[in-house]
Amino acid sequence: MKNIIIFGAPGSGKGTYSDAIVEKYGMNHISTGDTLRNEIKKGTEVGKIAKGLIDNGQLIPDELMVKILANTYDALPKGKGVIFDGFPRTIAQAEALKQMLAERNNELGLVIELVVEEGILMSRLLNRAKEQGRADDNEVTIKKRFDVYHAQTEPILEWFDKEGIRNTVKWADHPSKEQMIEAIFNLIEEKNA
Ligand code: ATP
Ligand code: MG
Repeated sequence: MKNIIIFGAPGSGKGTYSDAIVEKYGMNHISTGDTLRNEIKKGTEVGKIAKGLIDNGQLIPDELMVKILANTYDALPKGKGVIFDGFPRTIAQAEALKQMLAERNNELGLVIELVVEEGILMSRLLNRAKEQGRADDNEVTIKKRFDVYHAQTEPILEWFDKEGIRNTVKWADHPSKEQMIEAIFNLIEEKNA
């Protein structure tokens, strides 16, 4: 199985569709958001740095994030493809991921970009706040996360274009979780991932 980068704004469903892909294709899953929340829960040094930034809607610095990613990646069972969920979030992270994989005789694979209208994202995240109580799911922080997404993360799309690996799945064309999952599975199979 090829690697998959699942890409999209906060609340676009990266975690949800990653779970569906894992269930169907049995891949490894790295969610950098989950990894960081776990470090916070364990009270590690990384967790202490991450907490202030996450609660404020800011990104963890690239150098630290790239180290965490490489450690997480190297701890996974070999031979299966990996879904990268929440990474890369900057062009520097994208370059680092490409290099890290090349050093391990591996490559980026395919990008699945999730496109969802911002009003829908906001209501989903506010809803998730009620269910999961994540400290960064409040209206002020969500707006900051959208700003950070537009300024720092969205420019990676052009980088993906240059690499020839960008694929887009739009909520507007598949307006239910089930339809999105079907479109994503079709894409994976079409790309022989
Ligand atoms: P969702 O998971 O619903 O799509 P999200 O993308 O905002 O929402 P996570 O991916 O869980 O949420 O990330 C939460 C926070 O963790 C980010 O706002 C950021 O502070 C930090 N974070 C996660 N991944 C990275 C990364 N690759 N680089 C820098 N910071 C990160
Ligand atoms: Mg997530």
